[in-house]
Amino acid sequence: DLEEYLAQERRRIAGGRVSADGPKVICSGIQPTGVPHLGNYLGALREWKRLQDTEPPETKLIFFIADLHALTVPRPREELSEARMQLLAALLAVGLRPDRCTIFFQSSVPAHAELQWILSCTASTGYLSRMTQWKAADILVHRATHVPVGEDQRQHLEFTRECATNFRHTYGSDALVAPETLIAPSPRVMSLTNPTAKMSKSDPSPKSRILIIDSEATIQQKIRQALTDSLSDSVSYDRPARPGVSNLIDILAAFDPRGRDPAQLAREDLDGVKIPELKRRVTEALVAELGGIRDRYLDLSARPAYLADSRRSVPR
Ligand code: ATP
Repeated sequence: DLEEYLAQERRRIAGGRVSADGPKVICSGIQPTGVPHLGNYLGALREWKRLQDTEPPETKLIFFIADLHALTVPRPREELSEARMQLLAALLAVGLRPDRCTIFFQSSVPAHAELQWILSCTASTGYLSRMTQWKAADILVHRATHVPVGEDQRQHLEFTRECATNFRHTYGSDALVAPETLIAPSPRVMSLTNPTAKMSKSDPSPKSRILIIDSEATIQQKIRQALTDSLSDSVSYDRPARPGVSNLIDILAAFDPRGRDPAQLAREDLDGVKIPELKRRVTEALVAELGGIRDRYLDLSARPAYLADSRRSVPR
């Protein structure tokens, strides 16, 4: 019922802020630019799943496949189409449940593109020129109260908040809400071949990233070939002096059942441990975490009709 929905939204939002007693709306997106990698998993997907498992039922969870944003890198139609379905399979394989979360393609909600136009008229060009990228503000469509992202997206979210505030000042309207940023606890995951750059889907070298559907043999090989250093026989958590080794320790700490931070884990578990042994432990942790995801992904990918169907039946 539209009237009831609008009344509820008005109650939820007062003075451009979401009222403290209103329900939370958690919203985030990911671009279909290939099968997600470990950075996407630790920075976003694992957090989305955790929120799904821990938030009370009244919290709205909205996750979208940012296929409009992905158009900034032109690709053949079939490739984009396949990437969208691959990503949908990956989200479900990670454990997101369509009966709990709203999962959709950005392009199927025209309000994303409409808002983008409106914001492009009010966003300050001075602010924009200081940013390296600006593409995330259309999450404002969903009046999200909280946006979970990886550490690398902090700046995008600041931009989003700035857009909402600018809009309010320009039009005196509370229609857009500046959301809170929820940064994933894991640090930015770095490339395995160039550990001073972030792990990225757009890096031309496939060896630079672990995909969440990599087989045990592939994970083993990529970690074995990960760039480290010869500063010392034993490993130590030392940034910026040892970026490769520290990145591997970060990854190991991300799966620590005791939730220790990387420096503490290194002090307690890695004293005297050498690089090959560190790599063995990282491989073991990755295989244990990602094995189930890979199996579910392969199963889902073999059922395109089911995937197409789940796309049609997403609940609100
Ligand atoms: P990529 O460079 O891999 O294409 P991206 O930033 O363009 O990454 P998006 O699809 O825009 O990827 O982002 C999806 C989510 O993954 C975001 O929440 C982002 O913070 C997170 N993310 C991407 N790369 C990393 C990384 N190396 N470490 C941690 N989080 C990451």
